[in-house]
Amino acid sequence: MRLFIGGMRGSRPVTGGGFEEFGGDTTSLLVIGAQGERLILDAGTGMVAVSEQLEDTEPGEVTVLFSHYHLDHMAGLVMNPLFYRSDWSFAFIGPTFEDGGVHQAVTHLLAPPYWPISYEQMAAQFEFNDFDGNVIRVGTLSVRGCPIPHPGGAMAYRIDDTESNSALVFATDMEWRDRTDEHEVLFVTLCCEPNPAEMLIMDAHFSSIDLETFSGWGHMCWEDDLELAERLGVKRVLLGHHAPEANDETLNDREREVKKRMPGAALARAGQWLTV
Ligand SMILES: [Zn+2]
Ligand SMILES: [Zn+2]
Repeated sequence: MRLFIGGMRGSRPVTGGGFEEFGGDTTSLLVIGAQGERLILDAGTGMVAVSEQLEDTEPGEVTVLFSHYHLDHMAGLVMNPLFYRSDWSFAFIGPTFEDGGVHQAVTHLLAPPYWPISYEQMAAQFEFNDFDGNVIRVGTLSVRGCPIPHPGGAMAYRIDDTESNSALVFATDMEWRDRTDEHEVLFVTLCCEPNPAEMLIMDAHFSSIDLETFSGWGHMCWEDDLELAERLGVKRVLLGHHAPEANDETLNDREREVKKRMPGAALARAGQWLTV
């Protein structure tokens, strides 16, 4: 499968000098399966760049999977040009938490007062499905998920491409140090069964020094990411949810440290295509 990084900035978008290389748009990724299946992971402001990539493909069905509904993973919905075209249809899938599920989160945002028209007035087709823990199939892509520790809840997903026998795990936003025993068992199983995922995409908002101050904010440090990936036997790691304060210089310095520890790890850059 192929993976496009629309954006992997954490918490809020940033712009201007010093943010060109890693990008300022918040989390939205596009997975293209072997048969051209389209799966979007989260709908942060990076969804604009994802939609630009989709415009170059045949119109049709797109699945949008949500880790959770914090605004940095949703804000790209309100500016999506494909929602105004009748030849596109979107299946939104996401977990239900105590504060609500995918239908409530998306339809509240795509409606006044947050947006001038409601999703019902847009030309594209929309459907909503709760992620109930069962496997989701999108053509040759097979998706499983498990809850991860984050304020209000979040889900990690594993996407197996049954055609190429490769798998990636998408795990943001997550504070591994806040895990319960159940989180640990479920996440290890997600990453390792039936075999270790080829790539782990993880939340690296903080350094271990930052994390001492921001414990409980729901994010990880890159040092914990690499330790966990090593334990899971995953050699290819893509770190994201970059702190909005971290400019290109800071992130390049971080990436040098990361690569010293694990040569197969890198920091996500908006606009890049990867093959998994
Ligand atoms: Zn976030
Ligand atoms: Zn969050």
